[in-house]
Amino acid sequence: MDLLDTIVRLVWLLGAAGFVFGLMRMNSPATARNGNLISAGGMALAIGGTAVLLVSNGSISTTALLIIVAGIAVGGGLGLYMARTVKMTAMPQLVSLFNAVGGGAAALIAIDDYIRLASVQSLLPGSIPLEVSIPTVLDIVIGGITFTGSILASGKLMGIISGKPIKVPGGQLVTLALALITAVAAIYLWAGNVSVPILFVIIAASLIFGITMVLPIGGADMPVVISLLNSFTGTAVAMAGFVLGNDVLIIAGALVGASGAILTKLMADAMNRSVVNIMIGGFGGGEGTVGAVGAEGGSVRSLGMDDAAIQLAYAQNVIIVPGYGLAVAQAQHAVRELAELLEARGVNVSYAIHPVAGRMPGHMNVLLAEANVPYPQLREMDDINPEFDRCDVALVIGANDVTNPAARRAGTPVSGMPILDVDHAKSIIVIKRSMGRGYAGIDNELYVNPKTGMLFADAKQGLADLVAAVKAL
Ligand code: NDP
Repeated sequence: MDLLDTIVRLVWLLGAAGFVFGLMRMNSPATARNGNLISAGGMALAIGGTAVLLVSNGSISTTALLIIVAGIAVGGGLGLYMARTVKMTAMPQLVSLFNAVGGGAAALIAIDDYIRLASVQSLLPGSIPLEVSIPTVLDIVIGGITFTGSILASGKLMGIISGKPIKVPGGQLVTLALALITAVAAIYLWAGNVSVPILFVIIAASLIFGITMVLPIGGADMPVVISLLNSFTGTAVAMAGFVLGNDVLIIAGALVGASGAILTKLMADAMNRSVVNIMIGGFGGGEGTVGAVGAEGGSVRSLGMDDAAIQLAYAQNVIIVPGYGLAVAQAQHAVRELAELLEARGVNVSYAIHPVAGRMPGHMNVLLAEANVPYPQLREMDDINPEFDRCDVALVIGANDVTNPAARRAGTPVSGMPILDVDHAKSIIVIKRSMGRGYAGIDNELYVNPKTGMLFADAKQGLADLVAAVKAL
């Protein structure tokens, strides 16, 4: 190993340390942005080090280098543009598309490597060793599934494909048959046989498997599926690292694989679903599903702006409950303004953050951080729930399912989902446009609670009017 090789390996190590440190900083909204930059810096080091190594040992032609640079410029530019222009509410779709290209790229590396090996080596049994053929096949299988599965998941969330579970007669049998074909073909290659046609059988089966796996899963479960596919992408990338003998790729892939798996489990738990149950498919209702149980009688009390302003301004403790509607209305700045106004009047204000409020993990944290809401005011569900008993006014803004007491009963689509105990507050104000349902597609019993006053408005406009009304007091 010459000096340059050693230096590049040290740079890779530094890059890998950057991933780990960056990931650690993503633990809190206060340090997440910085953590993201550190991880990106680690990736830049890894890519730079690899490029220097390839050029210096002459294993890359100028044309190939130019193609790589052009690829980075086009891909990186497109990625930057999409990430900067995407609406926060469309983030899961974008993540899914990124998963697709990540998984696809990892699979292409293995396909290219295998075809190259098969063409240069004699096609004799055993000429491609197990330590190469195992990661190669796993990379292709996981990457292929991720590619088509993620494109389909993204299409479902964009509304291009129906968000409802799509069940094809005999679909599960087809999935099973594909799994069987892949397994047999993989064992054939691992037994020492070299065959490019068999490799293509594996590629085709994996690509179709991705489709049959995601098709029967409903839109409501799609973000969990996307998180799982994200974990798959990481695993495929780690396998690509084994194929190429690139340590930093193995580390980066393993980190994405592990964190994606943890996130999948956390999201499934927060929605009270098991990952297996989701993957078997067909249960997720998706947007607009009509629920099994509606609100049980009771009448809705509509609240005037001035009444709401008086309740809030003269309260001691106010808990704000943000939800998806706040994100859609882009009302994060307006809510901060109202909170600051109330605090200036001596009111204690906190925000109750439900783990699945909005449409992606951490949605409310990201949104409120963007409006510079102080982090200590953001309280997680388990931490804030006991405080609703002492809360004078719970101000629910565009949140629905995460506050629905129906979750405490069996037999509803949200049953078992832990909720924010908003109904324990002394008084409840709900800002939303209508009696429209939330993601789970069922009525919310909170809205007919005698303690609840409905302030029918767009979240941003309603908050602006509330600010004006409080100022006028
Ligand atoms: P919901 O989707 O339950 O409800 C949002 C409410 O916002 C709607 O009832 C709607 O009522 C209202 N709304 C929409 N636009 C506006 C607007 N411009 N101004 C005011 N209100 C508006 O949101 P929650 O955050 O309570 O719950 C999230 C749901 O999403 C849960 O069911 C969760 O399981 C699911 N989910 C979350 C994921 C995550 O990772 N966070 C992932 C996948 C699913 P109206 O039309 O009357 O205004």
